Order: sequence, then structure tokens, then C-alpha cells
Amino acid sequence: MLEEFNIERVPMSRAGSVDFRALKFGTVFTDHMLTLDFADGAWSHPEIRPYGPLEIEPGTMVLHYAQSIFEGMKAYRDADGGVRLFRPDMNAQRLQNSARFLALEPLPDGVFEAALEAYLRVDSAWVPDLPGHALYLRPMMFSAEEHLEVRPSVRYRFVIIGSPVGAYFDAESTGLNLMVETEMCRVPPGSGMGAAKAAANYAISLRASRRALEQGFDQVLWLDGTERRYVDEAGLMNFFAVIDGIVQTPPLNGDILPGVTRDSIIQLLADRGTPVSESPIAVDEIVTAAAGGRLSEMFAAGTAAVVTPIASITYQGQRIEPGEHGAGPVAALLHEQLTGIQYGRAPDPHGWSRLVVPGASAQAAE
Ligand SMILES: *Cc1c(COP(=O)(O)O)cnc(C)c1O
Repeated sequence: MLEEFNIERVPMSRAGSVDFRALKFGTVFTDHMLTLDFADGAWSHPEIRPYGPLEIEPGTMVLHYAQSIFEGMKAYRDADGGVRLFRPDMNAQRLQNSARFLALEPLPDGVFEAALEAYLRVDSAWVPDLPGHALYLRPMMFSAEEHLEVRPSVRYRFVIIGSPVGAYFDAESTGLNLMVETEMCRVPPGSGMGAAKAAANYAISLRASRRALEQGFDQVLWLDGTERRYVDEAGLMNFFAVIDGIVQTPPLNGDILPGVTRDSIIQLLADRGTPVSESPIAVDEIVTAAAGGRLSEMFAAGTAAVVTPIASITYQGQRIEPGEHGAGPVAALLHEQLTGIQYGRAPDPHGWSRLVVPGASAQAAE
């Protein structure tokens, strides 16, 4: 059913007219998009066609009840000109999990990765060949049924779009300045929704992040929803701190998004014999550790920004800074190791990097 995507190509690619050195995150889209529909109990109509508006009736359920999920990942250009994905199986699995949480119809096994590869073969020219750049991929799925009753939809649409991006934060910056949010929380505690990449979660977060931005901060540092005592996430990224030389991150308790970057960091550190402590981190503990000179680093982890240092957190009016200014040794090493694997220039002991469009030497050998 889904082996073949019906492909309608643009007459002429726009890639040649884009200045890849001056990209603003998420504002430029590739020539094509991929769509796949679920209706009458089956997935059908796999298509790759020119990027453009989706026709949505005003009564379509997603607009009213937010039954919508997404993924965020990147395609990387390697030195050979090939196009690579990083651990796409984890994104496939997480999308299935998000689908279950929102009572959406999961994609059949294998379809997510086959769709990504089909899409990348058509739009591979959009994967930038510049340091730190990548093609950001945004697979998404939503209820596409025209109906106003509040119940799970019976029609869904899966879509992949792609947007070329530069390095997320400039290297000159010493890192993020975060405001600890002590009133609102990121997701309803105990709902398990924190583990889903659900559109509604991001809607919930916007009021707090606007307030943080208005006060001159880059983002919010979220605390747990029950006690507002333990660190949850750094904006839309997973949080890490190095206290007394021990790398710590909050455990996956249903309120934390299981980041692919987070998981990879834990594995890379374990490989070096430096286990990460996955246990709740009280914000008071961070304050005390900083005062005692025991907080050496804080950083945030996610696909878009890889590993980004946190320059400060501000808690109840008090500004707390780690010992290291800018990327400390742990963050810098992880950034180098991760990007090395992602761009296919470093050893990849776990087989995380997947070549999906071969580069020059493979083509020359044909
Ligand atoms: C996507 C996301 C992350 C990071 O996940 P990665 O798979 O590493 O990109 C972390 N927190 C939230 C809330 C997210 O949405």
C-alpha cells in the first residue's frame, strides 16, 4: 500500500535562490511536502507534492480540539555529500507514543522512516552544506475530520515538511538566561502528557515564555507541576546540571519529554564511564550548590540546539550562575561528539547515524 509515494515535482527548485547563510529558524521551506491520509480504517494516498496550503474546512476537529502531534529532527550533510539522519527509529517510536496519548491512529511500523527517506530523496538539495547547518524536519499528524463532537477523530493526516536551518545559537553567546517559573507548569502533572510531543503542550507553555521574554530572559526553566520544587525542563529542551562533578538530569517520570539528544548524552557519558544521575533535582539544591562553588555547568539538550550552555537561572529574584562561563568541558565535549556522529565525521559505535541519500563516492562507484 505505502511502498510507492506518488510524486509530483515542482517545475523548478527554489533551492538555488535561497541564501543558506542567512536563514532564520523555521521560515524557509523546501520545494515539496509529503502527505498521507487515514480514513475508513486505512492509511492511503501517499503523496509527495509541491509545498503549499493544506485544504482544511473550518469544522475540522484539529482546529477545535488540538488533536495534533509532531516530531522534530534533522537531516545532516556529510563530507562526502551524503544525507544522514540521526536515530530516526527513536523519533518513529516517540511519534507512536504521542499518538497513543492523544488517541490518534498510529502509523504502521516502518512507514515513518520510509516516508522520511522518500521525502529526503526528493528534496536532498535542501540539506545545507555549511558547518552547523541542517535540514530541520517536521513530521506531524493531526485529526482531519470535519466534525464538532468531542471524541477521537476517525480521519487523520500525516505530513512531513522541511526547513533548512543554521546553527541555533551563535557561538559568541555565553548561553541561555532562564527565568525559573514558580507559578505555571509545562504540562498537567501526572497526566503523562509531558512525554508526548503534543501541539497542545506548546500552547500551554506560551503565556509563561512570553512573560519571561518580556522580562529580558531567553526562556523559562520549568519546575514540576505538583510542588514547584524540582527542575522539569529548560524551555523546550531537556535540562542537565553538573554538581560536584556529577552530571544530573531529571528522570523520565511522564512529565519529561524523552529527548533523543538526552538519551544520546546519557549513553555517550556512560561509554566514557561517567554515569548520569537520573534523579529529581531540587531548585534549592542548585542554589546551594552554586553558592558553595559546586555547580560547574548547566546546559540544555535538544535536536534544534544540540547542547546549549545555560548562563544563568533566576529564581525568586536571585540570579544563579554556574562556575563555567559559556560551554564548560562536559557540554563542549558532548556537543563535539554528538555533532561528529550526526555529520558522519566521528566514530559511531552505536550505529546512530543513518545514510539515507548516498554521497559522491557511492555515486562514483555505481
Ligand atoms: C522535542 C523536545 C525536547 C528535545 O527532544 P530531542 O528529541 O532531543 O529533540 C525536549 N523537551 C521538549 C519539551 C521537547 O518538545
